[in-house]
Amino acid sequence: MSYALLDTPIEYLKGVGPKRAEVLQKEFGIFRFADLLFYFPFRYVDRTKFYKISEIHPDMQYVQVKGRLISVETIQGKGKNQRLSALFSDGENTLELIWFTGLRWIKAALKTDADYVIFGRPGSFNGRLNMAHPEMELLKDHIASPQGKLQAVYSTTEKAKNLGLDSKGISKLAITLLTQIPPNSFGETLPSTILNPLKLISREQALRSVHMPSDNDSMQKSLFRLKFEELFYAQLRLLQVKNLRKQQLKGIVFEKIDTYFDEFYHQHLPFELTNAQKRVLKEIRRDTVNGYQMNRLLQGDVGSGKTIVALMTMLMGIDNGYQAAMLAPTEILSNQHFKTISKLLEKTNLNIKLLTGSTKKSEREEIFRLLEDGSLHILVGTHAIIENPVVFRNLGIAIIDEQHRFGVAQRAKLWGKNKENPPHVLVMTATPIPRTLAMTLYGDLDISVIDELPPGRKSIRTMHYHQFSRQKVLDLMASEINKGRQCYVVFPLIEESEKVDMKNLMDGFEQLQAALPQFSISMLHGRMTGEAKENEMKRFAAGKTQIMVSTTVIEVGVDVANATIMVIENAERFGLSQLHQLRGRVGRGGDQSYCILLTNTKLSNDAEIRMQTMVRTNNGFEISEVDLDLRGPGDIEGTRQSGDMKFKIADLAHDQQILVLAREMAQHILEDDPELKNAQNAIIHEILSLEMKTRGAWARIS
Ligand code: ADP
Ligand code: MG
Repeated sequence: MSYALLDTPIEYLKGVGPKRAEVLQKEFGIFRFADLLFYFPFRYVDRTKFYKISEIHPDMQYVQVKGRLISVETIQGKGKNQRLSALFSDGENTLELIWFTGLRWIKAALKTDADYVIFGRPGSFNGRLNMAHPEMELLKDHIASPQGKLQAVYSTTEKAKNLGLDSKGISKLAITLLTQIPPNSFGETLPSTILNPLKLISREQALRSVHMPSDNDSMQKSLFRLKFEELFYAQLRLLQVKNLRKQQLKGIVFEKIDTYFDEFYHQHLPFELTNAQKRVLKEIRRDTVNGYQMNRLLQGDVGSGKTIVALMTMLMGIDNGYQAAMLAPTEILSNQHFKTISKLLEKTNLNIKLLTGSTKKSEREEIFRLLEDGSLHILVGTHAIIENPVVFRNLGIAIIDEQHRFGVAQRAKLWGKNKENPPHVLVMTATPIPRTLAMTLYGDLDISVIDELPPGRKSIRTMHYHQFSRQKVLDLMASEINKGRQCYVVFPLIEESEKVDMKNLMDGFEQLQAALPQFSISMLHGRMTGEAKENEMKRFAAGKTQIMVSTTVIEVGVDVANATIMVIENAERFGLSQLHQLRGRVGRGGDQSYCILLTNTKLSNDAEIRMQTMVRTNNGFEISEVDLDLRGPGDIEGTRQSGDMKFKIADLAHDQQILVLAREMAQHILEDDPELKNAQNAIIHEILSLEMKTRGAWARIS
């Protein structure tokens, strides 16, 4: 019965109707009653607290004020722009309230000289305190319908607000619905073997009090319960994928460590491996002999030496008669890997080729032939390796560098490159991601971390300057170049304003030429052909030019050890992980290197934190944690397109402990009962199979 009720189209909820239904569907994906219950608040405010206007400042979150509406007027702005401006007084001070949309509707609803409780986010304009689009409730209504102490705050949109569906409007609907649903209508989705030891409240209780908590304690408990449930099922699914793969796919066994690996290790390795590199190689070794397919993520900060680990992993395969492939996201990077690897292996008789979009047809055909007859040992390249009708004779190991540009589907495509067993896969990323994200994004992979830089590195000194200190930066560049070093100067590139960005780049180039006429300058940008880029890179790498001005095309992987200064123009326009990647382009040799962040003088709070973080630390993992905190999981580099990141209530930036708990619990359950056949896991089994049938139905089960 309740199932049918929850499945009712939202239009039929009291207070909705066709117009609001349309907006609820379009703006929030709320089609049915159940969807509204799973449209969770993102925060709560204490509605018993009232502020004086004198206590408010523009950086505050939501505040509630009691007072009188003095006047309301429509103000004509530029062109057709109008706004509504109202004066609100708490008896001592006044505050301007403003609206930019829905003016007529709002103006008609407002009563001057009436007492109101207003609620909203303070802001400022021209140095004057104001509040845009506040919620307004007549004081007498407020008193007549006492709120719970905590009010749920829902995210909303302008369109929804114009139909009265501000946070409070949505809250009202949720409460209307909940009071309409009879008690004990929500089925349980977790077994008592989880509920009891973790002291989780029932699903019924949680779904009710998440929308209308009676107090802080019940709010916390319902959030915990719902977040746990969401994360638990997500982890369970990932771990099942992993288990299934182990059951169904037989892995190639690299039985022996032989000539190539041994010879390289003892004779050609140009340096002693760091302990972290050794540890990771052991982990990989274990994966490649246990009869399962390796699916391992290797995380290591820029410059931590992942390439050599990749190379030695490929040698393990080659020693056992298999071929190896190494994929990189760009041509520049593929070229670079090809060169590095060819050089490291030049004393061996191994056959190595490069395949990219610009490989000539004859060369391409030659490569296909060598691949098929098995005489090509290592193929380095871009997506071309996946996209082309490339058939390996026996691909044993595939390395994917810079994972975030390759999708999961592409990873899977690689497996198809073999006639028999899928190759082992090692995914490498130089964008360290926080543990919680790794567990979610790569929850089906095993994870290795290189947490140690090769010895002798001087840590890069990072400085933050405002534009007007440019001369200092030019002086530093000149003095480094006079010592024989080289510099990068990077300009931001944002697609929407490519023209402006190109102009900035050109202007920057000219200004540098004028300021440092004694040096030669290279330039690199996205509009150049692959060949032109390559040539410019070559000139710079060979020391023929001293300064490389570029857009972010140099971001990934470029390796010129003699470059010691990275100047980042308009650094406030870059995200943290990008800044960190850029910084990683210097500090590759033994010389002291510098990263200079040039910004405007006026920075947003977030930009200020980003600059301070960069100056404070060189640790990529630490930086990724700050990044996650600032931007939330959806915007972290490389995760944007990922549907795996879309949680309804869990928040990976702040719910790390719950996630760890959920994963441990999921692991524990699958270890005891891999196929979820035990009676006590019946609920879990049911939920998962139901979900398989109707993806997304999770929200509808009751
Ligand atoms: P990344 O992890 O960013 O891909 P690379 O593999 O490019 O790092 O290595 C960065 C630099 O450090 C390279 O020049 C490489 O030769 C060097 N390197 C790697 N491992 C070691 C080591 N154990 N000792 C000294 N230098 C190393
Ligand atoms: Mg690399």
